[in-house]
Amino acid sequence: MSTFRILLTPGDGIGPEVMEEATKVLGRVERRFRHEFVYDEEKLGGAAIDAYGTALRAETVAKAKQSAAVLFGAVGGPKWDDPKATVRPEDAILGMRKQLGLFANLRPVRVHPLLLGDSTLKPEVLEGTDMVVIRELTGGLYFGKPKKRWTNAAGRQGVDTLRYSEKEIVRICHVAFQLARQRRKKVTSVDKANVLRTGQLWREVATEVGREYPDVTLDHLLVDACAMHLLRRPASFDVIVTENMFGDILTDEAAMLAGSMGMMPSASLGRRRKDGTGIGLYEPIHGSAPDITGQGKANPLAMILSAAMMLRLSLGLEAEAAAIESAVDGVIAGGYRTPDIAGAGTTVVDTRKMGTLVAERL
Ligand code: NAD
Repeated sequence: MSTFRILLTPGDGIGPEVMEEATKVLGRVERRFRHEFVYDEEKLGGAAIDAYGTALRAETVAKAKQSAAVLFGAVGGPKWDDPKATVRPEDAILGMRKQLGLFANLRPVRVHPLLLGDSTLKPEVLEGTDMVVIRELTGGLYFGKPKKRWTNAAGRQGVDTLRYSEKEIVRICHVAFQLARQRRKKVTSVDKANVLRTGQLWREVATEVGREYPDVTLDHLLVDACAMHLLRRPASFDVIVTENMFGDILTDEAAMLAGSMGMMPSASLGRRRKDGTGIGLYEPIHGSAPDITGQGKANPLAMILSAAMMLRLSLGLEAEAAAIESAVDGVIAGGYRTPDIAGAGTTVVDTRKMGTLVAERL
């Protein structure tokens, strides 16, 4: 029996509600596959601000570093929204990513055939969509220096700096190629090489890293073309890799293909070991949904699918991850829906029931 240490940070709003369902499902995985998951639980975000006056305690980071992975709910809510506040719930996510050296953000976008109608795109365009968008998280325009505003005789001025080093591009490209190897073996690297020097560097380095993976096809797209093709031929993509700001925009565009936020998991990864595993933070892409907190309406599937990603990418438990994903598919195929994805002829269930249905299918 193998034992894995996992840090749970349920956070605020619906975070604790969906986390409970994820651990219910993980409990079934433990029994079926004979593993032991040892949990630590820490308050974070608004809950930690209330309890300790800070969104992320040093103790929480220390526990995260001793764990194989962090399973993260959601943070924030109206109670902590004061723009003048010196501590904000979001500091917890940024702090955690920084302290754990998480430089790659992964968002899988898979559209379940029975949920094709939930998207604003036509079902025939969406059919077969199954991609992962990888965004570089720690470099680029959001962090480059100089970054400042000033005023001179010509009026108000501002500058941000888009800078990437070869090393930063190499490590994120390896994440993309390694992931593509476990999938359909296709990487699309997205840049703006026709205008930006960093874009030329990005393309050059991506091509060089690609040579180490002769079994994976690499193509390059300009970011504007990629934005267009995501809507025109989403099913043609397998793994997309891009820099921070382009990724920020493209991941949201890609997320909308799937329709509901309640279905979409994500991972933030740091350095990988030879077997492709390593520490990661796994969270649904949705926020704390204060409008439905405490009403049993939250869809726990994004959180449950985040736990599946954790098993695959941090714990190296592929069969277990696939079992969760197929249990989720089975529950959807069985016609069960939380209110956010309910349609004609479906059975509407609450958060707990949805978690139980997935657990029972395992
Ligand atoms: P949100 O994702 O919380 O909610 C947007 C809409 O989607 C709401 O109508 C909500 O009810 C619905 N929704 C979200 N998750 C759902 C689920 N699992 N099941 C069913 N419906 C779901 O975004 P928001 O309203 O813009 O933000 C609310 C709070 O969450 C804010 O404080 C924001 O800062 C925070 N936030 C946190 C994260 C994070 O922790 N990573 C991400 C985004 C927003």
